[in-house]
Amino acid sequence: WDRSLSDKNVYDWSSEEEEPDGRARPVQVLLVKDDHTFELDEAALSRILLAEEVRDREVVAISVAGAFRKGKSFLMDFMLRYMYNHASEGWLGEADEPLTGFSWRGGSERETTGIQIWSEVFLVDKPDGKKVAVLLMDTQGTFDSQSTLRDSATVFALSTMISSMQVYNISQNVQEDDLQHLQLFTEYGRLAMEETFLKPFQSMIFLVRDWSFPYEFPYGQEGGMKFLEKRLKISENQHEELQNVRKHIHSCFTNISCFLMPHPGLKVATNPHFDGRIIEIDGEFINNLKVLVPWLLSPRNIDVKEINGSEITCRGLLEYFKAYIKIYQG
Ligand code: GDP
Ligand code: MG
Repeated sequence: WDRSLSDKNVYDWSSEEEEPDGRARPVQVLLVKDDHTFELDEAALSRILLAEEVRDREVVAISVAGAFRKGKSFLMDFMLRYMYNHASEGWLGEADEPLTGFSWRGGSERETTGIQIWSEVFLVDKPDGKKVAVLLMDTQGTFDSQSTLRDSATVFALSTMISSMQVYNISQNVQEDDLQHLQLFTEYGRLAMEETFLKPFQSMIFLVRDWSFPYEFPYGQEGGMKFLEKRLKISENQHEELQNVRKHIHSCFTNISCFLMPHPGLKVATNPHFDGRIIEIDGEFINNLKVLVPWLLSPRNIDVKEINGSEITCRGLLEYFKAYIKIYQG
C-alpha cells in the first residue's frame, strides 16, 4: 500500500450540512415510505450539492449497494476514514479506535429504506491537477423483508444512475441470482434513461465478502478479476438465459471489476459489543482493506460522473437526481 504514500495530503474537505455540534453525518436524501412511494429530500440534497465550495466542481459519486446486513455501512465507514485522513499512510487510524460514520451496528431495528449521502463532500486533487468533489452514498433496505422487489430495484437503479462507481456488495460468492438481480435492476435504470449509443453506466465493482476459496482465486483484485471473468464468460453451450444475463451486464457498464475480501473474523460477525476497532478484526481482512480502499478511492483512481458522455458537476447531479426520481414516482 505504498500507493497512498504518494497521495499524502491531497485531501481537504469542506463542511456544509453539519450538525449543531459541528460533526458531519449521513443524510437521508431518498426515502422509501411504508406505502412504497419514493420521496426525495430536495432541500437536504441541495444543501449538500449546492454548497458554494462544491457546486461547480465535477463530481465523483461512489455508491455501495446490495443485500442488507452484509457489511456495506461498515465498509463505508472505512472509506470515510480514508477520506478524513487525507489518504495518508496511517489512514486506518489507531488499533483501538471505534468505527463511526454511517450506522452499521447490528440490533433488530430496521433501518430506513433508501439512499443516504454523507453530508461532507470531499474535495480531492486529481494527479492531472483537477480538483473534484467526492460524494459517498450508502443504500439501505435492498432485499430486506419489508421492501418489495420494486423498492429494491428502484433504490439500486437510482444509486447506479447517480453514481460513477457502484460497489455491488455480495456475500461469499457471485451466484446466478446476484447476476439476475443486477440485470433486473440495471434494466430498470436503463429504461428510465435517454437512449444513446454509449453504455449507460460507468464502473461496476463486484465486492465479494467472506470469500473462502483463496486457494482457487486469491483475495484482492487480480484474483477477483480472474474469478469474475470465469463467472461472466459467455459460451455457446450455455443456456440462452445465462448468456443474456451476461450480455446485458457487459452492455451496461464501461468498467467491470471484482475484489475478493476475506472474512473479518467472528468478533465482527457475531459479537454484539464489537465497536469496529481494528484490533478485533482479522489481520487478513485488514491487509485487504488496506488495498481495497485506496484502490477504490485514491485520487488517481476516481472517475468523474459522466452522463451521455459529458462530465457532471454537483449542480448537474442534483438536476439529474430530480429528473430520475420523477420517472419512478410516475
Ligand atoms: P449493511 O446492512 O450491509 O450496511 O451491513 P452493516 O455494515 O450494518 O453490517 C452488518 C453486520 O455485519 C455488522 O454486525 C458487522 O459487524 C458485520 N460485518 C461487517 N463486515 C462484514 C464482513 O465482511 N463479513 C461478515 N460476515 N460480517 C460483516
Ligand atoms: Mg447499512
